[in-house]
Amino acid sequence: MTTSVTTAVLERAWVAGAVRDEVVVEVDGDTLVRVEPGGSAPGAERVRGLTLPGLANCHSHAFHRALRGRTQRERGTFWTWREQMYDLAGRLDPDGYLRLATAVYAEMVAAGFTTVGEFHYLHHQPDGTPYDDPHEMAHALAEAARAAGIRLVLLDTCYVSSGFGEPVEGVQRRYSDGDADRWAERFATLPGKTTGAAIHSVRAVPADQVATVAAAATGRPLHVHLSEQVAENDACLAAHGVTPTRLLHDAGVLGPLTSAVHATHLTDDDVTLLGSTRTTTCLCPTTERDLGDGIGPGRALAAAGSPLSLGTDSHAVVDPWEEMRALELDERLATRQRGHWTAAELLAAGARHDSLGLADVGAIAPGQRADLVTLALDTPTTAGTGADEHTAVWAATAADVRRVVRDGRVVFDGDRDAVGRALAAAIEEVWS
Ligand SMILES: [Zn+2]
Repeated sequence: MTTSVTTAVLERAWVAGAVRDEVVVEVDGDTLVRVEPGGSAPGAERVRGLTLPGLANCHSHAFHRALRGRTQRERGTFWTWREQMYDLAGRLDPDGYLRLATAVYAEMVAAGFTTVGEFHYLHHQPDGTPYDDPHEMAHALAEAARAAGIRLVLLDTCYVSSGFGEPVEGVQRRYSDGDADRWAERFATLPGKTTGAAIHSVRAVPADQVATVAAAATGRPLHVHLSEQVAENDACLAAHGVTPTRLLHDAGVLGPLTSAVHATHLTDDDVTLLGSTRTTTCLCPTTERDLGDGIGPGRALAAAGSPLSLGTDSHAVVDPWEEMRALELDERLATRQRGHWTAAELLAAGARHDSLGLADVGAIAPGQRADLVTLALDTPTTAGTGADEHTAVWAATAADVRRVVRDGRVVFDGDRDAVGRALAAAIEEVWS
């Protein structure tokens, strides 16, 4: 698919905070240069449906997709899920990961994501020995993103401990560079402009090494799993006498380029620290639901000053529309009240790209990259729902995405069967 968009008329589109009719867009290369509601462009292609900005999947572990439908077969806990995930992590080599990630990223594109933040820790060979090229797995992910048409922000992850002073063991050797200094040396040689860093968690990076990662990431996105499980908080309090949020704050990790992923089990002080430092909170509601993590205090964090972003994390579900409405629906269950978020706010969370270091993606406006996601308005799911932002947030599913344009290029044209075939083949290969 190499079709490029130059001029088009969008039947309905989300522009400057409202749905407008007959929006003329002109694209120069990868950038929108004209966005004119009610305009005319004789002879231009007319795009039927409701067009939204490209959505950002701010937290992904691509290989976890191969667990869908498998880890849910028996009763279990977060920790038994992790054992199955480790089994999978031990099976992947660069070629297999390329095929799996290509299929997974294609599923994301078909769902409406144009960018993925890949929280990447599968760095080395199964015994921990680096590949000849120490970035070989990262290259596989970059190649997969190119093939699938998604914009990749690789978040190279530091993971050097199995928990609070414990050495890595088993498949965790694949994740570890030994210590944060050696992680930073490897990180410094990682090619590509769209890269960031990640601290896997306060479990996986010792407290006295956290600042090393933060220093290496200066000026780039820095993501960290935070307080997903009560057990993590308990272990951190036992080891250091502070919450994980306080530990990260005191090490200088929090700030506007940092994202706290999950942020589920927080104290009031934690919420204040995240909000006052303008740290982004990246919620992953469908994964948190699948793993039984709990419901993070999204509304309280936003009120404290923390911007919200969204991710599909383990890919138990890959559907940005479901992720957006889950923010509100989970709050309803937690509080037994409705009306925490407007559709516009939820759409903004879904399209937010700044936590991935991208200031020019996420809006249909001149100067922004030409990322255009079009929902069909005549499907059994979307028909009769108003054809506006409420359709996107309260009705649509990934299956209603008709076309996706990224950087002015058509990267999904509605062929869902091809996406399914590639996933089936790649996942069968992993488990065979
Ligand atoms: Zn994660």
